Amino acid sequence: MDKAPSTLRIELAKIEWDINNSPRAKDFGDVYFSASGGESEAEHVFLSANNLATRWASLKHNNKPFTIGEIGFGSGLNFAKTLQLWEATKDKPEKLHYIAFEKHPLAAEDMVRAHSNWPHLQTYFDLLLANYCPFSAVCYRLAITQHITLDIHFGDALSRLKTVYLPVNAGVDCWFLDGFSPRLNTELWSEELCLELARLSENNGTLSTYSAAGWVRSNLTNAGFEVTKTAGFAGKRHMLIANIKKPNASPTPPSGMATWAQSPSGQKPAKSALVIGGGLAGSSVAYALAAKGLQVQVVDSNPTPAYGASGIAQLALRPRLYKDASTLAEFYLQAFLFAGDHYCRLQGSNNSLWHQCGVLQNPLAQNKKFPLATEQLNLNYGEEIVQSIDSEQALALAKLALIGDYMYFKKGGWVDSQALCNAYLCHPNITTRFGFKIDSIEANDGHWLSRQVNSSTVLASDVVILANGIHAKDFSQTKTLPLEAVRGQATYIEANPKSEKLGAVVMGERSIFPSFNHHHTVSASYRRDSSIAHSSQDDEENLAGMANLFSETLAINSSAVSSKIALRCNSKDFLPVIGMVADAEKMQTEFAELKRNAHAAITGDGHYHEGLYITAGHGSNGVASCPLAAEHIACMVTNQASTLSQDMISQLSPARFLIRELKKQV
Ligand code: SAM
Repeated sequence: MDKAPSTLRIELAKIEWDINNSPRAKDFGDVYFSASGGESEAEHVFLSANNLATRWASLKHNNKPFTIGEIGFGSGLNFAKTLQLWEATKDKPEKLHYIAFEKHPLAAEDMVRAHSNWPHLQTYFDLLLANYCPFSAVCYRLAITQHITLDIHFGDALSRLKTVYLPVNAGVDCWFLDGFSPRLNTELWSEELCLELARLSENNGTLSTYSAAGWVRSNLTNAGFEVTKTAGFAGKRHMLIANIKKPNASPTPPSGMATWAQSPSGQKPAKSALVIGGGLAGSSVAYALAAKGLQVQVVDSNPTPAYGASGIAQLALRPRLYKDASTLAEFYLQAFLFAGDHYCRLQGSNNSLWHQCGVLQNPLAQNKKFPLATEQLNLNYGEEIVQSIDSEQALALAKLALIGDYMYFKKGGWVDSQALCNAYLCHPNITTRFGFKIDSIEANDGHWLSRQVNSSTVLASDVVILANGIHAKDFSQTKTLPLEAVRGQATYIEANPKSEKLGAVVMGERSIFPSFNHHHTVSASYRRDSSIAHSSQDDEENLAGMANLFSETLAINSSAVSSKIALRCNSKDFLPVIGMVADAEKMQTEFAELKRNAHAAITGDGHYHEGLYITAGHGSNGVASCPLAAEHIACMVTNQASTLSQDMISQLSPARFLIRELKKQV
């Protein structure tokens, strides 16, 4: 497995401008596009050379998204030209998926300046810049339109390519190789990188590049591409085009990926789904599936949406922090950024569900014994994600005086859980059934049948997604999952004229939220039990914890008005459980050797309950992790590319506990 990079920060491109207002990368000593015209170069070298318009027309009945991969995203000119051609082409597949790799993104202001060279492409650049956030080494998924998805992997292309897992039949149809000159940017043209391009390609995939360097040609040939020289752009004698034949195989998993973590892909795409659970995890996955065209039924034993742990009126969005870069640090950062963007889009012009007011967090809030050192966090995340601020700055943001120093997440905020779940569930492809408990689920001839004990009703669906928190383990297929309930009680208090000023979510021993309908939520107690009885002691502790945040006494009216008791669902390792449910019995047999030798090489395939998925164990981080988990599961169900890396897939896989149990790593 590759060593994780030491930071999640990204270094922006250092740009100088020539007299024609064209950008040049100082560190590489090269230009972003030909001095003879970037736009015509993009048309010649990438769009025409890959024969895109004709190929799209021939694939017009295809329901697989047409996938383009670009090495070296730069100013996004090739992307904008692709969108322009896509728009102008009448006959084409329904969806376009553009996966780009970029190590040193242009700062937004440099993007804007470069784009000013092509005012007629502004509409496309606007779609890109609306949510452009080039600060972290993660994969950003941007829903450019309903039919066009852009994934930008920020970081070194080779390291990132090695972590990409594409399902069977969801490979890259066409690659744009647009690094700087091979002489100045050798790592982007290596044989190792070409092998990754070949691994991720679809059968008959193509590739083009402006370069005709002999060694680039051999690297591509050695990786399995059939390479041809053709006329270059603007007087350049040659450029390269290539294609790859993979008659029996589309993309293969990354070489380091554990076989047990590879759940089946390439099955017949599902048309219908049953989601069990109408809280944040359930409604977000229902929405993600509905948005991909499935008919979804959401069933919940509770009487209304967001009734359980998601039902605390105000929930905070902030990332779970780690002092170093790691797969999990990357997952939580990616999830946080994805969620903020997702809530913004979902909200549209209705400003009620998402409030990006910022979050102030006391460094002791996550771990009292070992508070996170803010300098270290800054090295890992950078100021765009988290800033360390003193009490004066905190006062300016919170509008009330706080005790101590704080970390500030400007992209953080809070969601109105009820409004959020309702917004998800009103998608026209979703129907709901509340007050209905599913007691058993059973695979039956390619479908799933879900039943209630004393009822003749049987709900049939192509797939089932378990999103009912702690009760996700109530089924025969999931009974071994180590999920546990953690009781939490939130206290609602009335706002007063002083507390109404609170301008950010403040998190310490307890969290307090800005006034909402003239009340504040104070959350939440934390007890590892499953009692749902009201506790006056919990309310008192919540109020005392909240009072400790402020240096102004009685800034907040401190008597409890009401409380909400909820059972959070945590897994044994405090990470969410996301993916296809493993077949415990078959896995235990297949990998029994691990009991004798924990280091035994296990190469057999994992065994899974095909069509049965889970998203649970989000603990107190569900506002950040549920939307990304939902998108991942919706991609699995529809055989589309997800943005989770192979390491994330393994580390969050429902099968991980079984493997650890066998190895006795429990
Ligand atoms: N296609 C771009 C456009 O439409 O503006 C121009 C790309 S420019 C010629 C080359 C790009 O490759 C630069 O943005 C550069 O930062 C990026 N690059 C260089 N080395 C890289 C690496 N190791 N991994 C990913 N991207 C890299």
